[in-house]
Amino acid sequence: MAFKVAIVGRPNVGKSTLFNRLVGRRIALVDDTPGVTRDRRIHPARLQDLRFDVIDTAGLESAAAPTLEGRMRQQTERAIDEADLVLFMVDARTGIMPDDHTFADLVRRKGKPVILVSNKTEGRGAEAGVMEAYSLGLGEPIAISAEHGIGMPELRDAIAEIA
Ligand code: GDP
Ligand code: MG
Repeated sequence: MAFKVAIVGRPNVGKSTLFNRLVGRRIALVDDTPGVTRDRRIHPARLQDLRFDVIDTAGLESAAAPTLEGRMRQQTERAIDEADLVLFMVDARTGIMPDDHTFADLVRRKGKPVILVSNKTEGRGAEAGVMEAYSLGLGEPIAISAEHGIGMPELRDAIAEIA
């Protein structure tokens, strides 16, 4: 059975963009509308020499369960349960938001290995956002750009340490 990696985080941080990059084609729907990826998708993926299954999820939302947000959260919890490793993604451009802390707590409670990924770090002005990610208490953030393919060797090495 393949090693399973779930990409989780609040809406719009770039989860589906990374999913598409790892899968090698555009399967997940990428949209500027937060939470647009409502279905969980699992697909064989490759990062350099590493092969694994990647799970794209809807954004984690903190709202109550009967709502769409609640269902998305529930579905993300299921993805974490199914995964061997969680990539917890934050957005270096917006910085850490209250929801990031809420969901970091959720991920921590699940007790799965976690790699913290700070996305959208291409260009200037992302350093402060990357540093802020340390406050989540999930270790050292790996700076990437899912859109531009930056930081993929570092991400590969971090995954290889756990897989
Ligand atoms: P999701 O809701 O977490 O799945 O996020 P998406 O993958 O749908 O991306 C949300 C938005 O962020 C889209 O407009 C993407 O084009 C954009 N985005 C994703 N990755 C990057 C990145 O590395 N840099 C920048 N600047 N934008 C990105
Ligand atoms: Mg998405």
